[in-house]
Amino acid sequence: MGDIQDRVFNFSAGPSVLPVEVLQEAQADLLNWKGCGMSVMEMSHRGKAFQSIIDQAEADLRALLGIPESYKVLFLQGGASLQFSMVPMNLLHPGETADYVVTGSWGKKALQAAKLVGSTKCVWDGKETNYDRLPDLSGLSFTEGAAYIHVTSNETIQGVEFQSDPDLPAPVVCDMSSDILSRPVDVAKYALIYAGAQKNMGPAGVTVVILREDLLARTPENFHPMLDYRLQAENASLYNTPPCWCIYICGLVYQHLLKNGGLQAALERNRRKAAIVYDAIDRSGGFYKGHAQKECRSLMNVTFTLPNEELTKAFLEGAKAHKLDGLKGHRSVGGSRASIYNAFPEEGCRVLAEYMDDFAKKNG
Ligand SMILES: *Cc1c(COP(=O)(O)O)cnc(C)c1O
Repeated sequence: MGDIQDRVFNFSAGPSVLPVEVLQEAQADLLNWKGCGMSVMEMSHRGKAFQSIIDQAEADLRALLGIPESYKVLFLQGGASLQFSMVPMNLLHPGETADYVVTGSWGKKALQAAKLVGSTKCVWDGKETNYDRLPDLSGLSFTEGAAYIHVTSNETIQGVEFQSDPDLPAPVVCDMSSDILSRPVDVAKYALIYAGAQKNMGPAGVTVVILREDLLARTPENFHPMLDYRLQAENASLYNTPPCWCIYICGLVYQHLLKNGGLQAALERNRRKAAIVYDAIDRSGGFYKGHAQKECRSLMNVTFTLPNEELTKAFLEGAKAHKLDGLKGHRSVGGSRASIYNAFPEEGCRVLAEYMDDFAKKNG
C-alpha cells in the first residue's frame, strides 16, 4: 500500500490533484456512507440518500458561483468533449450561425465539432503565434444575430486565460473545464457554461452544464434523449443512471471550497501560487521562456520552454527527485507545463520554483 507521506506534487493537467481532505473524507465514508449501510458506489440513484447527495452538490455549486435562479445545473456524462457537439446540436438552428473564438487546442476542437452540425464562423484564431495570446473580445466583429458565441476561458494546453468575464452582443457559451471554481464568475454574463470535472472539481466522468432556462426552448423536438438539454433538465440529471460517485466527490470538493472562503479566497490562493512559478520564469534571464504573453497568463496552467530538447529532458528527469510529477509540456507547445489547479498546494509551487532556479543556475 502507498503511504500518504509519499504523495507527490502532482502537476498533471487532468485528471489532476484533489484536496487530501476530500480524499480522506471519501475514504472514511467509503464502506458505509453516513450509516446507510452501503457505499455511494452501491446505492440506487433513485433512493433518498443519493437524492440528498446530488441536491446538496447542486446547492453548494449554486452558492459558490452565485448561479441565478433562472439557470439550470446539469450533471452529465461524455466529458467536455461531448459538449462540443451538444451545444450546437441544441442551440444552433438551420439558417443561423455560431461564432467561435479559437484561442487554443480546445477551442479548435469545439469549432470542428460545431462545423459538423451547422453554420459557423471563426471570428478569431490565434494559431499564427501558436496560441500565445488572447484577443480583446470587444474588438471582434461578430455575426449579426449569432446563435451564440463560443469562448474557452482557459486554454489548458497553451496556458492562456481570460482574466475577466466577457460582455458580448450574443449569448456566450463558455468552456470553463480548466478554470471553473478558480475565481468568482458573473454567471449572468453567460448563456451556458460547461466544464468537465477532472481539472478543478472532481474525478473524470461527470461534466457540469450551467445554462439559462430560456435556452431549453431551443432544443429541437423529438431529439436524441441523452443529447437533449431539455430532457436532462426536466429529469434533473436523472434521466438515466448518472455518474453517482463522481457527483458525490464533486460535492465534497464544493463543500471544501465553501469551508475555505469560497471563490474569492480561491482566486487569492491561485494568484499567489501562479506568481511563485511565473517569477521563477521571469528571473531566469531568458533560460525559461513563458509561452503565454504576460497579460494572458493562466493561473491554472503555467507553460514554459527551455533552451533545447536535451535540457528539457534533463529538467523533467531531475524533477522527480523533488517529488515534482507531471511537468511534461504538451507536444504542441513543448517544454514544461505546471498545472496548478485549486487543489494544488502552494508548497509545491515553491519547491518547483526553487528547483527551476537551481536548474537554471547549473545549466544556464
Ligand atoms: C480537458 C479539457 C477538455 C476535454 O475534456 P474531456 O472531459 O476530456 O472531454 C475540453 N476543454 C478544456 C478547456 C479542457 O481543459
